[in-house]
Order: sequence, then structure tokens, then C-alpha cells
Amino acid sequence: MWTLEWRDRVWSALDQTWDLIIIGGGITGAGILREATRAGYKALLVEAGDFASGTSSRSSKLVHGGLRYLRNAQFKLTIESVRERERLLREGRGLVVPIGFLMPCFSTDPLPKWTFGMGLTIYDLLAFRWEHRFYNADGIIELCPLINREFLLGGYRYFDAQTDDARLVLRIIREACRQGGTALNYARVEELCRTRKGWVCGIVLRDVASPERNRSLEVKSPLIINATGAWADILRANSLRVETKALRKHLRKLRGSHLVFPWEKVPLTRAISFCHPQDGRAVFTFPWMGVTIMGTTDVDHLEQDISNPSISPQEFDYLMKAITFAFPSLHLKEEDVQSTFSGIRAVVDSGKSNPSRESREHVIWYENGLLTVTGGKLTTFRITAHDTLRKVQRMLPGEQRFRTGSRILDESCLEILNMVSLEPSKKVHLLGRYGQDMRELINIAQPDDWKPIPSTNTLWGEIRFACRSEGIVHLDDLLLRRVRLGLLLPDGGISLLEKIRPVVQSELKWDDNKWNDETNNYQCLWRKAYATHSR
Ligand code: FAD
Repeated sequence: MWTLEWRDRVWSALDQTWDLIIIGGGITGAGILREATRAGYKALLVEAGDFASGTSSRSSKLVHGGLRYLRNAQFKLTIESVRERERLLREGRGLVVPIGFLMPCFSTDPLPKWTFGMGLTIYDLLAFRWEHRFYNADGIIELCPLINREFLLGGYRYFDAQTDDARLVLRIIREACRQGGTALNYARVEELCRTRKGWVCGIVLRDVASPERNRSLEVKSPLIINATGAWADILRANSLRVETKALRKHLRKLRGSHLVFPWEKVPLTRAISFCHPQDGRAVFTFPWMGVTIMGTTDVDHLEQDISNPSISPQEFDYLMKAITFAFPSLHLKEEDVQSTFSGIRAVVDSGKSNPSRESREHVIWYENGLLTVTGGKLTTFRITAHDTLRKVQRMLPGEQRFRTGSRILDESCLEILNMVSLEPSKKVHLLGRYGQDMRELINIAQPDDWKPIPSTNTLWGEIRFACRSEGIVHLDDLLLRRVRLGLLLPDGGISLLEKIRPVVQSELKWDDNKWNDETNNYQCLWRKAYATHSR
């Protein structure tokens, strides 16, 4: 679909008037592109880096009702999230998968255990299912023998879901493109165009994939949507012609960081959610694609650079303290952490001293012709998209056409699976990640492509398919987002580079110089944003 000539094809077709232009290729922009295209609008999405390279590949990967939002009485957010989770579980089999949670209650918790039970009761009622259950301390230990017995009072079992966030974004964008939408990565909006009266009416776009070509273009549309997440204030200020500091309503940038352990070091079969012994915040640890993730922090991100945030020593210690408290018998040490990752959440700054008290609901602002949408969650991307498009319905041709009852993800053709001989669970996993692209993946696969890359569930064929057809510009697009080897393997999979080299070089037509530059850049990026802070 996005082969080597794709970028030039899209660039040569940009000079037309679009019904709407979406700036930002994270989950928010992807959802708006998908729903606008479904409604029959001519929509263009442009992304400054790679698709999902912002927060949408650095989330906690949960498709969840957000149990902790109940604590802040954010009922609307919880109801919407739970309902969207249910739909995504039905439609995104293999990509959005159920995960069992245990919530141990410790004597160190700030709230009595019945309050958790009450929260879970509301949670289940909102989802029209009754799945949570209380266990005494022995029952919890039977379900997870690793849990700290010393302070354990008992606990609850419940269910939520998890996903591969970057693949979810990619699947949505590609399904939109299959239905007539247009999306381009490495195309940065440098400036907003204005009418004589100062109203935003277009964008100045620069091709950052091939800087040597110095390609830039003005693209016009009556509706420009700013879905740039943590970067949103930059374009807002540009539209109002003020400094970001002078904006009346500000976004507060909160960083959340995670630790990644090899599964053998923290061998969990379900997620464990518990209160941090230091401050009582809810934290969780869960198995994900063969590793175990521990998250998350919630701190103000005060650095100027928001492109590749990284964990601070304080966050690292905070998370280590939590996991060693929960599982003392594992005797975890700093060296056991394989990698880390951090994402930035943009929330409306209401000045609360505790960042975790700021609302996580999305906000929509219309200023000088620029519609900004930010905040929100991965789980509720479709609701965010509908709210956004409804807000500007009068600027779009025709009647309102956004229905919450319609599908979120396209139906995949199950017969495709008969074309490969893999274990049924692996087939479903692949179908979830690739949807209708599965047919092409099968068609181009060579016999050895069906083998997994050692220590992972990733197939060699996924590397070939990503290089041939998924719009890769840099090596990190491949290793951090198309497949997640950068998170799943020690040292970001650096030891694997020579093995994937022949496929990458031949598919992407990279000569040795280009390969060397890309591997150097990848290693620098990985050390900056994904390594443990002490290295
Ligand atoms: P982003 O994904 O950051 O996308 C914005 C994009 O805009 C970027 O890719 C950027 O490159 C692009 N951009 C910026 N400037 C320009 C420009 N000038 N031109 C073109 N493009 C530009 N939600 C859940 O539902 N479940 C979770 O488990 C969960 N965990 C989270 C954990 C953490 C630590 C954080 C921070 C958030 C989490 N969330 C979770 C929330 C969710 O991840 C975010 O709300 C969501 O990813 C934000 O998506 P976005 O598209 O708005 O922003």
C-alpha cells in the first residue's frame, strides 16, 4: 500500500482543496481521519515524524475503562471508555486482547479495601457485565504467589484489555486510506496560512523525509484540525500570532514513564494493579508481548524538548520501589530493567498541585479558524473524533453522519487465515495487527518469513512487509513502531541489526552509507529515550 513511490504520489496530489486537513498522526488524528473518511469527506492527515511516533506509541497500552478515573469522579470518561473497550475487543480480535487484573489491597493503602470493591462494582455495571470478585489474602496468593504477603489484606480480580498502541494507530490510518483518505508521514506543518482577515485557511507543509529535495507546499482547506497532542500549543500560538506563553488557556505536559523487564525476571500471567507504598497512587505491572511492563509515573515535563522524552532517575527509583514492594521475593535490581519508555500527556492546566488530579478528558478549542483537539485517551479515540467533527459540522458539506453504533475497525476476512499454517492463536494475533493487509503480507512472504525472530513473537515476514509496504523512512520506524523489537529485546535489538540488514537494505534500497547512518541514529535515539537512565 505505501511502497517506495507512495510518498511522491501523495506529494504530487496534495495541491487540491480538501474538506479537512488533520495535523498530527497519533491516535487522535488517526481517529478523526478514519471517521471523516467513513462519513465521505475528503480528508488529509499530515504527520511531522512517523505515524504514532508521539505519545501514541509510548502509552501504557491499555484499552481500559480507567478505573482510577472513578477516584476523580470522572464518570463520563469511565462510561465511554468501558463501552469503547467492549467494542474494540469484539472488532479488534488479536490486536485488542482481554487481560486479567489482580488488585491486591495492602495495609499500606491510603483507602480501605471496600472502596476498591465499590469502584469495581461501578466499573462492571457500566460495562453490563459482572466479572470482578473479592479474594482473601490466601486466594490472592494462590492466583499470584509472587505478591508481597507481609502487608496483604486480600484483593480483587477484574478484567480489562491491552493492545499494541502503535499498531492500533497504523491500522486505523490504513483503513481510512483504503476507504479514500490520504495520510503522509514525515510531512511537518511549518506555518498556518491565513485569509486577509487573519482566519486560518491552510498549511505550509515541508517534506522532512527528504530534506535534500527542499520540498514544501501550501495546502488549502476551510477546516484545519490541530491534533498534535503535547505540541498543540505551538500551532495554537501560531494561529493567534502570539507567543505560547501568552496563550490564555494552557496545556500542562505530564510525563508518564515505564520500566520494561524481561518476562523471566517478572513472570506474571496477569496484570497487577496496586497503590504505590510511597504516595498511594495507582500503579500497575503487566505482561505485554513477552516482556513485563511497570508503570507509570505522572510528573510535570518541564524540558523544552518533547520529541523523545526519557525517564528521570527519580521516576526510575519510584517505579523500582513500587515493583520491589509488590514482589519482594524477586529481589529485582536496577540491572534487571531491560529498557524504559516515557510519553507525554497534554492536559488542560487548571493549576492543581497534584498532576494526577488534572482531568484526562479531551478538550476542543476553536480559535481563529484552527480547531484544536487534545487530551483524551487511546481507548476513546472514536468518541474524540466524533465530538471533534460534530463541533465543526457546519463547515463540512452535507448532513451529520457520525454514528457511535457503527464499526470502529474494519471486518477482516477470516478465510485469509487458511492460506497460512500457523498455530490458531498466532493467526489471530497477525490478523489483529494487519487486518486486511494480511493478504499482502502472505503474498510477499518467503518460506523462512514464517519463523519467529528468536525470543519474540515477531515473524521475519513482518519486517519484510513493513519495509515494503508500511511507509518506513527511518530504522526507528521499523524497530520501535511497525514491530516493537526496540522495546522487546535487550539493548533495543541492536544485536539483531546485522540479521535484518539484508531485508531492510534490499526492500528500502538503502546503500551501506545509508544503513550505517540509520543504525547510528537508531542507537543514539534508543540510548536517549529507551535505555535505563543509569547507562
Ligand atoms: P500524539 O500521539 O502525541 O500525536 C501527536 C502527533 O502530532 C505527534 O506524532 C507529532 O509528531 C505530531 N505533530 C506535532 N507537531 C506537528 C506539526 N507541526 N506538523 C505535523 N505533525 C505534528 N490512554 C489509554 O487509553 N490507555 C493507556 O494505557 C494510556 N496510557 C498512557 C500512558 C502515558 C504515559 C500517557 C502519557 C498517556 C497514556 N494514555 C493512555 C493516553 C493516550 O496515550 C494519549 O491520550 C494519546 O496517545 C494522545 O494521542 P494524540 O494523537 O493526541 O497525541
